[in-house]
Amino acid sequence: MLISKSRAWYEVDRSAIKHNVEAIRALLHGNTKIMAVVKANAYGAGDLEVSKCMQECGVDFFAVSSVDEALSLRKNGIQESLLILGYTPPEHFHYLSEYQIIQTLVSLDYAKKLDAYCEQAGVKIRAHVKVDTGMSRIGIRCVKQDDHIADVLEAYRLPHLQVEGMFSHFAVSDNIDQQEHIDFTNEQIAQFEYVRKKITEAGIKPGIVHLQNSYGIINYPELSYDYVRPGILLLGFTSDCKDRLAQPIDLKPAVSLKANVTLVKTVQPGSCVSYGRNYRPKEQRRIATVCLGYADGYPRFVSNRGSHVLIHGEKAPIVGNICMDQMMVDITDLTCDVQEGDVVTFFGEDHGAYLAMDELSHLAQTINNETLCWIGARVPRIYK
Ligand SMILES: *Cc1c(COP(=O)(O)O)cnc(C)c1O
Repeated sequence: MLISKSRAWYEVDRSAIKHNVEAIRALLHGNTKIMAVVKANAYGAGDLEVSKCMQECGVDFFAVSSVDEALSLRKNGIQESLLILGYTPPEHFHYLSEYQIIQTLVSLDYAKKLDAYCEQAGVKIRAHVKVDTGMSRIGIRCVKQDDHIADVLEAYRLPHLQVEGMFSHFAVSDNIDQQEHIDFTNEQIAQFEYVRKKITEAGIKPGIVHLQNSYGIINYPELSYDYVRPGILLLGFTSDCKDRLAQPIDLKPAVSLKANVTLVKTVQPGSCVSYGRNYRPKEQRRIATVCLGYADGYPRFVSNRGSHVLIHGEKAPIVGNICMDQMMVDITDLTCDVQEGDVVTFFGEDHGAYLAMDELSHLAQTINNETLCWIGARVPRIYK
């Protein structure tokens, strides 16, 4: 059992998430709606709780990455439309009809397999066609040099599937600094439009059409499809705060990572701190031990690379190698008196101060999406 605030915890601010939904809506026009991407346990924040927030905001469409994520939401009362963005193995096809889950058609062969299953089982399965316009991940490939529009039409016409929509995915919508990347995204948009036109010309209704992820929403605001698919924006972040955006968005970071101080000690010159003996102070230092480590999702890679925490709203450096369950922080230069049981903040707000997750992501040479996903399963989520 996870006991709240026993050693480390992860605060998730529901009102901030709701604020972010409204901030995204403020960028949409026409009748465009939000399909909330709550895959990977809603980027670690808790898929059920985040989905409930979405329901309260009137969001009526959800997306996840796998059938087990979909089942977990269904079994916990999420009855809205639910799309699996990725692959479902044939042995789990039966769940799709049993739980009214919409499956992405990752290729024409896959669509045929799903259609054959439906025929044999006497069921209809709902599906969206994925069109690969340049990401080269999944979908029926419709790029200029390699166009399989006939396969898209064939997928739509499979008799035992209920094909309700089509979508594609951007590869570089986050980059508006390099013209070649802007051109690439515009090419993806043009290909997507071309596919939609061909479907319509063939007398088929494309159904629900959606293309934009978080950066697609911000950087390509002229688009107006039936749905947009934000993930990271729901939690109040872009992938990297250094990315230039085509327009501002009023986000509120919704998560913060915290743990307790377990011990405060004085370390004498010549001593060493933690595994590897990489930190050896030349003067006497005050060191606090904190019960959070890499098993909680704080990357060991940032050890001895200048990462910080907040204690009583003041910044303190992490020193020595980060351990699995613990780390050490140098509190010598803090003006406040640090004691066992004090709260340490790794990112988020503390006593009016704020430590951005981006700092950690930059030190770890990654993006906020990954930092969010690291937060360990053993860290209890506390919903405010
Ligand atoms: C993950 C994902 C999203 C959401 O991406 P963000 O960049 O977090 O908004 C949208 N669409 C697809 C297909 C995805 O895989």
